[in-house]
Amino acid sequence: MSSRQHQHHSHHLQNLPVNLSQISLAEWDEFFGLYNISRESQKRVYEAAFHHGISEIGAIPGLSESEHDTMNRAAVIRRSEQHALNRSIDGSYRLTMELHDGHLAETVIIPEWHDGRLRKCSASISSQIGCFFGCSFCATGRMGFHRNLSTGELLDQVRQAESIARRELDSELTHLYFMGMGEPMHNYRAVSDALTIMRDDAAPGPLPSHTTVSTVGLFRQIRMLAVDHPEVHLAVSIHSADQDKRYRIMPVSSRLGLSEIRDALAYHKRLTGHPPTIQYLLMEEVNDSPDDARKLAGYLGDLNANITLIMYSDVPESGLHRSDKEKTDNFIAELTRAGFPVDIRWCYGEDIEAGCGQLKVCSREDRISMSMRHGLQTGEPL
Ligand code: SF4
Repeated sequence: MSSRQHQHHSHHLQNLPVNLSQISLAEWDEFFGLYNISRESQKRVYEAAFHHGISEIGAIPGLSESEHDTMNRAAVIRRSEQHALNRSIDGSYRLTMELHDGHLAETVIIPEWHDGRLRKCSASISSQIGCFFGCSFCATGRMGFHRNLSTGELLDQVRQAESIARRELDSELTHLYFMGMGEPMHNYRAVSDALTIMRDDAAPGPLPSHTTVSTVGLFRQIRMLAVDHPEVHLAVSIHSADQDKRYRIMPVSSRLGLSEIRDALAYHKRLTGHPPTIQYLLMEEVNDSPDDARKLAGYLGDLNANITLIMYSDVPESGLHRSDKEKTDNFIAELTRAGFPVDIRWCYGEDIEAGCGQLKVCSREDRISMSMRHGLQTGEPL
């Protein structure tokens, strides 16, 4: 079939061969309809591509000869490859994937041990190359935006992280976070399709109910996520409940009003039944006063949100500094008084080479205790 014949179809389907890792699930249906491939064979290709990580069309079992011929002509499945794997002294793994066009995407695998037993094994995956939003504290933001990752590229990270967890830690991935490079909600279609695919037990990674999507507050997508994936958890980076201050920390927030975000959070909680996690990067003299804490508590009101305070070492190029112990304690005390559970996450040095929400860079030892609530314990490295 010439490309002229399907020019009224989605632009992704116009240039042959079509990369099946890149198109949306809606386009998959369109593609297979266009080439008269049976539903059963479509299912086989889908499973090969998304569940089993097969990249050779010829290696997909169960297709008729003519279907193989058609598929070989019209489609490819482009994969990302492992480019590097580094183990850090804290036990986490930093996986670098090379995408088919040479871009590199980072994934972090974080084992958490408790009493000598592996309690949790998470992966944090990247959703974009670079980021559009340029938050003041974030290294990824300084790269500028290059491109979105495709559904296939998201799943390749999960699949590779899963095989590393099995090989190195003898563990399954228990939790998945969309918190690496990029703003996942700015790449909503690919993220949502990946979550849809992951509902299947045979797909790589944990089920979506053990998955968290992080955002700087793209409120339309927060509402979409609540409808499309009510089982998925939500983490929103607020960093200040004062609109002007938030704007200085996150320039994007001029278009993301705090009240719209608040409405979207309430909507999300109503539809999904689980409260959001609010991420707050505590920065000296920027957003760490008791008044800032009271504003945050007032803003969240009856949302029952869990608050995660993110503490990190200074980033010279950003001119930002971590709050001292006294300020931190006072901040936590205000939130605790208002009834909010507070978790703390510690990030250090080069680890700020970060991403949205920064989970990927916060290693296990640096996070004193994920479950530490209601105040600081002794021994924190301040
Ligand atoms: S924190 Fe997230 S949204 Fe902000 S610049 Fe970094 S990756 Fe982008």
